[in-house]
Amino acid sequence: MVAEVEAMYAETRGETGLAGMSPAVRAALARVERHRLVPPGQQAMAYRNHPLPIGNGQTISQPYIVALSTDLLRPEPQDVVLEVGTGSGYQAAVLAEVVKHVYTVELVSDLGRSAAARLAELGYRNVEVRIGDGYAGWPEKAPFDGIIVTAAAPSVPSALVAQLKAGGRMVIPVGGDGWVQQLKVVTKRADGGHDERDIIPVRFVPLVPGK
Ligand code: SAH
Repeated sequence: MVAEVEAMYAETRGETGLAGMSPAVRAALARVERHRLVPPGQQAMAYRNHPLPIGNGQTISQPYIVALSTDLLRPEPQDVVLEVGTGSGYQAAVLAEVVKHVYTVELVSDLGRSAAARLAELGYRNVEVRIGDGYAGWPEKAPFDGIIVTAAAPSVPSALVAQLKAGGRMVIPVGGDGWVQQLKVVTKRADGGHDERDIIPVRFVPLVPGK
């Protein structure tokens, strides 16, 4: 799987500006036991570079997209990061391998609860899962060094930009309607504003507005 992901980095380097996976992300991808985060029926497929169904109409992201999103964040070992859209917990586990602490918010309580249980079983003590609306972020734990959103939003949510440190980055798929979104890197400026850069077209499930 790592070799397939490397090959996609090479193919997309013109768009992403990334020649290859960082050593830290490559090591994380090799370490995380993806077969333990997918439903039993999907385990044979766990180490292919594909998204997979995880129930409730949701998917575990393709390993390439997880690796790319993580690299685009330029994670440092001391970083505290927020993820929106816990899903299977796979992206959270990859992040937990490369940063100090991961806070992750999931709207669907069944998914959030089982992800939390699996992450605990896998020994991740630096990941906290909260059931709630990720549009609101996790204000009590803000500001964050980085934010990864793993469901598509119609525009960059301002509550999330507000929870980034100056100089912090957010990786988020943005696209109003239709199937394809742009994976963007949002950089928070010291004056409170932000800059956006389009990386590549992607296909994520939509971010559902919380009730
Ligand atoms: N990161 C996941 C993949 C996530 S799929 C993984 O590695 O497996 C997108 C997830 O976002 C789904 O689990 C979906 O339930 C969740 N989601 C959708 N809208 C949300 C919202 N407003 N707040 C939090 N989570 C949301």
